[in-house]
Amino acid sequence: AALDRIAKVDEAVHAFLHVDAEGALAAARAIDARRAAGEKLGPLAGVPLALKDVLTARGMPTTCGSRILEGWRPPYDATVVSRLRAADVVILGKVNMDEFAMGSSTENSAYGPTRNPWDLTRIPGGSSGGSAAAVAAFEAPLSIGTDTGGSIRQPAAVCGLVGVKPTYGGVSRYGLVAFSSSLDQAGPLARTVGDAALLHAAIAGHDPLDSTSVDLPVPPVVEAAARRDIRGLRVGVVRELSGEGYDPGVQAAFDAAVQELAGLGAEVVEVSCPHFTYALAAYYLIAPSECSSNLARFDAMRFGLRAGDDGRAGAEEVMSHTRDVGFGAEVKRRVMLGTYALSSGYYDAYYGQAQKVRTLISRDFAAAYEKADVLVSPTTPTPAFPLGDKVDDPVSMYLSDLCTIPSNLAGGPAMSLPAGLVGGLPAGIQIMAPAFADDRLYLVGGALEA
Ligand code: GLN
Repeated sequence: AALDRIAKVDEAVHAFLHVDAEGALAAARAIDARRAAGEKLGPLAGVPLALKDVLTARGMPTTCGSRILEGWRPPYDATVVSRLRAADVVILGKVNMDEFAMGSSTENSAYGPTRNPWDLTRIPGGSSGGSAAAVAAFEAPLSIGTDTGGSIRQPAAVCGLVGVKPTYGGVSRYGLVAFSSSLDQAGPLARTVGDAALLHAAIAGHDPLDSTSVDLPVPPVVEAAARRDIRGLRVGVVRELSGEGYDPGVQAAFDAAVQELAGLGAEVVEVSCPHFTYALAAYYLIAPSECSSNLARFDAMRFGLRAGDDGRAGAEEVMSHTRDVGFGAEVKRRVMLGTYALSSGYYDAYYGQAQKVRTLISRDFAAAYEKADVLVSPTTPTPAFPLGDKVDDPVSMYLSDLCTIPSNLAGGPAMSLPAGLVGGLPAGIQIMAPAFADDRLYLVGGALEA
């Protein structure tokens, strides 16, 4: 059914970069045979899933939405993928994204944009736009995205889905092609909080192959999603994440969701996180700095594209020509910004300063969690905007992640959840929790959804 749906709608939506119809059917048949033989199956047996094209999966290409990786077939599974296979998930294929996960609209993909199923003239968010669109268009009930500054939560918000960035270190980054290693985290997108919890539980947990993976038990997310009782829970509304610059409809939807939480017995308090105002600026130094270092590996020698190699050109010429034609404009902009911010003489003024701001943001969170068990804000300042609207204005594109970036900088988990429609387009409420308390997101999400 999922493959039929893809055949029917994906020409218009363009969520998928690669559909592995044969592999998916073979996996589904093998699961059926094991079921018939009375074998014990995984917790998501037979459920189809769309995988963001930044995670490696054996037997499929991995492009990261970039020309520079066109044709590259990784010889190994990311840990997230091997865990999906162990849960008996059926992987349908790879879905579209902004090049190397840099963007908020999926318009930075080298393979053309994805469209928002709610309105095909609008963006599906990004960078996990393909992951969100595939679920919103009923092509897959579940998908995996990655979130460095909001790339799971913002697409979930503008496509009317549940999306979760787990605690940093909660889900292995092995086989997740790195953009900004200290921020990147893979997580679930789904139609309901319960579905997201099942997927979260399937992919999370310690992995010795990722040295930043934390050896702690997976928080009880599935149980929390089913509890539906938030009486007495302290919900902190972040003063700095609303007001001026926020679409009035989005603000009203958010306010109504907070009222609903109060109606369910939560104790709503206001909290102040004064340094959140600087999160976007700090992020746009830290993320490009790490990106400039991580993307050095795409050198025309090891992976994918090799351009300008006529047998006489020197290695340096081939490298620079390949990077020139293989990377898109946004990736180049970030490599240049990051190289500059890390260069000697500037390091302390830019990168070092941004790291200090990052510490202040973590302290703001710590202080807020003395007064509240979870924090809430709108997920994005606006609903989905029209395709093409912000392509020539990177700073206004960057503002899409105003509310989501603080959690990446501090490492804690955060969820976006539907908060109603604004002019026929979905708006989201963001729930944030302390590190390794991912279950609180599901507790609040499950109650709000019920
Ligand atoms: N939109 C942000 C950026 O362009 C976040 C991207 C992400 O989370 N991968 O960096």
